[in-house]
Amino acid sequence: MKESIVLQKLNGKSRINGNGHSNEKINGFDIIGDNHIATSVDTPMRKDAFDLSDEVKMEIIEDKFRDIMETMGLDLTDDSLQGTPHRVAKMFIKEIFYGLNPANKPKVSVFENKFKYGEMLVEKNINMNSTCEHHFLPIVGKAHVAYFSNGQVIGLSKINRIVDYFARRPQVQERLTVQIANELKKILNTDDVAVVIDAKHLCVSSRGIQDESSSTVTAEYSGKYKDVSVREEFLKYLEL
Ligand SMILES: [Zn+2]
Repeated sequence: MKESIVLQKLNGKSRINGNGHSNEKINGFDIIGDNHIATSVDTPMRKDAFDLSDEVKMEIIEDKFRDIMETMGLDLTDDSLQGTPHRVAKMFIKEIFYGLNPANKPKVSVFENKFKYGEMLVEKNINMNSTCEHHFLPIVGKAHVAYFSNGQVIGLSKINRIVDYFARRPQVQERLTVQIANELKKILNTDDVAVVIDAKHLCVSSRGIQDESSSTVTAEYSGKYKDVSVREEFLKYLEL
């Protein structure tokens, strides 16, 4: 029921015209943001997303961010503020949102499972820094990933790189969890993959409800991990 309400609001968004920013619609956007509902597994991107080079994008963002700061009344001639638009633009494209560009996807090669290791492999407490796409505030937490080899294994640090790549986008945690799981399934050629993310959202802790103690846990289980006993074994390893 909740979901259909949100979809309605999203449809309203696409109909908005030049003077269509009524309070009702603005409230509609707020409702979506605070419910933090993912609308698709794929990050919504425009068809022309990569027509511009990173350098041109950084110049445009720098100009627009300067406008935002000036609109708020900040004096950009001040030494301390002068370089901020440039720093923010560079940070957006090269760091916190580099994962939007498929050209930056980590190159991952798989190896033959020579040891015939047949139990699950768990990599836990992977540092994860992402950004909430509804408020552009940080999501900070840990990802825990597990899989059973289907004859192939990947270098452990590559799992960290895959988590980081998908995290470095404007995200919702649900979508991020599924994107990581789908990528690992594709690379490892198996459905036997589990991903759990436990993260704090600054949009929950530092604004709005201002709850500093809550965290959000999301999970994606497929293949063997649909089995309760396999899932429990995985979750037990996370307690070690
Ligand atoms: Zn948020």
